[in-house]
Amino acid sequence: MTGRPLVLSLIIMIAFTSSGCDKPSSFKRSRLIMDTIVNIKVSEPSSLLQKKAVAMAFDEMEELEKVLSKYDEASEVALINRMHKEESLPLGRDTAFLLSKALDLYSLTEGAFDVTVSELVDLWNDSKRASTLPSSEEIEEARTLVGSGYLRLDVDGTLTLKREGVKLDLSGIAKGYAVDRAVAVLKDSGIESGIVDAGGDIYCFGPGPRGKEWRVGVRNPRDDSLIGALSLRDAAVATSGDYYRFFIIGEKRYSHIIDPRTGSPVSETPMSVTVIAPDCLTADAMATAITVMGPSIGLDFAENQREIEAIIISKDGDGFKVELTSGAKALYEEL
Ligand code: AMP
Ligand code: MG
Repeated sequence: MTGRPLVLSLIIMIAFTSSGCDKPSSFKRSRLIMDTIVNIKVSEPSSLLQKKAVAMAFDEMEELEKVLSKYDEASEVALINRMHKEESLPLGRDTAFLLSKALDLYSLTEGAFDVTVSELVDLWNDSKRASTLPSSEEIEEARTLVGSGYLRLDVDGTLTLKREGVKLDLSGIAKGYAVDRAVAVLKDSGIESGIVDAGGDIYCFGPGPRGKEWRVGVRNPRDDSLIGALSLRDAAVATSGDYYRFFIIGEKRYSHIIDPRTGSPVSETPMSVTVIAPDCLTADAMATAITVMGPSIGLDFAENQREIEAIIISKDGDGFKVELTSGAKALYEEL
């Protein structure tokens, strides 16, 4: 949905890759949605019911992509991005819900997570294509259009724009939400156990293989081997990493995540931030936000949030170090 290339994820469902762990009776399918290979697996034998449930879950994610992608002219987000100052628009259920969550996360992260970062994302994407840095004037101009305070969302789901030119980019949260919706469809169809993995934005529910917890592998950001595994059940996990998604201009490497406070890509990026949360929307957004905060402030922030746990991998000399919140330590096993 973001017009970005397919990327490898820094966390993976171990059960997907190690055939020895799989119950032969489990059923899995993949589809390309939101520029990502989405895997859905249910721990039940393949039957018409399972197949139908999985197809409906994928359909739900595809419908969301149509509504939430700013790159699709026909989407609701593209419609919002054509609004003028003081114009109001009653939003659809999904967009209103997602935006209200995004506004809460904007406050909670003191602006590190900001869905109005759109103009800056476009400016830096143009730079990437042209291989030239934007001027400080261009950055300042785009920054004047960034700030979730310019959005007013009423309780009935009506959005009003408080500043001309402010635009939305929901890419830092939409994939996580789509995973949550897919899980809801599976559960509504009577599926009791399974996982949805949208390129590393994961939710696993019910008992995992052999009735145990689901194992989610955390990758070594340098060589793709696994450095650890999380044991999870009825939980979401998402990763933001600069390892695969960055661009280089001159000698310097730039992240795809923007610090809304400076208007530039985050400079002191951790190599990856993995967040465990009760839902995938929260995990997705928090992983982006903690990347903006940086390893030190980000770890303190995550430690102080009751709902989330985090694993932060950052550069350490020629190697890297892995830091975990206290709750994450209980879920993590070094491999
Ligand atoms: P993720 O890969 O989930 O970390 O999301 C990154 C995407 O979210 C980027 O490609 C941008 O489209 C958007 N984004 C970049 N910086 C931010 C930010 N500070 N807050 C919210 N969304 C952002
Ligand atoms: Mg994210």
